[in-house]
Amino acid sequence: MKRPTILVLGAGYGGLTTTVNLQKLVNANEAEIILVNKNDYHYETTWLHEVGAGTISPDKARYPISKVINHNVTFVKANIESIDVNTKIVGTSAGDFTYDYLVIGLGFEGETFGIPGLKEHALSLTNINTARQVREHIEYQFASWTLDEVKDDSKLTIIVGGAGFTGIEFLGELGNRIPELCKEFDIPKEKVRLLCVEAASTVLPGFDPELVDYAKAQLSKKGVEFSIGTPIVEATAEGVKIRKDEEEIEFIKAGTVVWAAGIRGNALVESSGIESNRARIAVREDMRAPGFDDVFIVGDCAFLLNEEVGRPYPPTAQIAMQQGVTIAKNIKHLINEESTEVFVYDDKGAVCSLGHEDAIGTAFDRKFTGKPASALKKVVDDRALYLVGGVGLTLKKGKFKFL
Ligand code: FAD
Repeated sequence: MKRPTILVLGAGYGGLTTTVNLQKLVNANEAEIILVNKNDYHYETTWLHEVGAGTISPDKARYPISKVINHNVTFVKANIESIDVNTKIVGTSAGDFTYDYLVIGLGFEGETFGIPGLKEHALSLTNINTARQVREHIEYQFASWTLDEVKDDSKLTIIVGGAGFTGIEFLGELGNRIPELCKEFDIPKEKVRLLCVEAASTVLPGFDPELVDYAKAQLSKKGVEFSIGTPIVEATAEGVKIRKDEEEIEFIKAGTVVWAAGIRGNALVESSGIESNRARIAVREDMRAPGFDDVFIVGDCAFLLNEEVGRPYPPTAQIAMQQGVTIAKNIKHLINEESTEVFVYDDKGAVCSLGHEDAIGTAFDRKFTGKPASALKKVVDDRALYLVGGVGLTLKKGKFKFL
């Protein structure tokens, strides 16, 4: 009998964790494992705010996929162009693939909620290349301000749309990077404006209010201004319009606008033949897609309701990696004709970086701020490396310096 083909789409946290667990559980006689990803490297999406601000290099945030997969896995570097779960054909730039088991782990895209001009004029921290673009754009603005004879200070204004995790972590890094950039380009620091614009009434929704107050105070000390409860209603090549109240719309001129307020699943999901909402699929309790027993969804493309609070689990790397472990086990169960396991999320807390040696977080039923929280964040980042690539990868790429 032909051995089944397991096709994993995407080598992010979810897809790569699924793959490295599959390679341990399933031997070459039992199944063929194929992993398809756009690049031949994995990037740490949770580090993109650092790449965007320029506090780490893009290379620090990525590693070759070949370092963590073994001979049980065939890796294909290709752009996935279409998924059809009815014909079981996945179209890619390297040709079509079919499968017996499919894992969709293609991550997220920015959600601009139809706000005019955002797609065209705002930058984003969606993948390693958009993050690199943010860094280079800011540097370009700063460099040209220095060279301009007639100075336009708005080139030094950076607007971050969104005060969620990504926006706040990015602002924290900018707080460290801006003084360096000012020194590099001979710019008086007071010329630079860092503005966080948020439509909702609070910063970091869902976080403990005491920690949120700490975060706001720390970022304010780094020069961040907050405009909360003021949605961006339009972006132009020159800046953004924000609604101050029912009547007043203010235009803020800015050299850089970064949109970090909302995500949706990968658009390929919407034409896959599986029902989705904002490109996220409401998975069954064993992480399979509704109506398709051979299709699993992992990470940000999956939508999972937390029954206890009646709200979806937030899309995080933490949950994506845990789902990957369960999916690998469940594929093994299906190959063995056994019943699948229910995915149970083990919430280990959350840590939000505020830049160099500062953070807020909750873990072990405790709250953390400052250096201890920042150390915890490094542990979380290194743990993700360890779970995928073991000690070797952690020593090479980790944030703790051992030597
Ligand atoms: P990803 O890890 O984004 O991977 C998707 C993969 O699919 C990528 O390798 C991509 O190249 C590939 N791909 C996409 N489209 C195609 C295509 N067409 N063809 C081929 N390959 C394709 N979560 C936390 O738990 N803790 C944090 O502290 C945290 N901080 C964050 C900070 C930032 C700045 C951001 C942006 C996110 C953060 N998150 C955090 C959220 C977390 O990064 C995501 O939830 C997580 O990356 C989702 O994993 P995933 O596997 O679904 O997608």
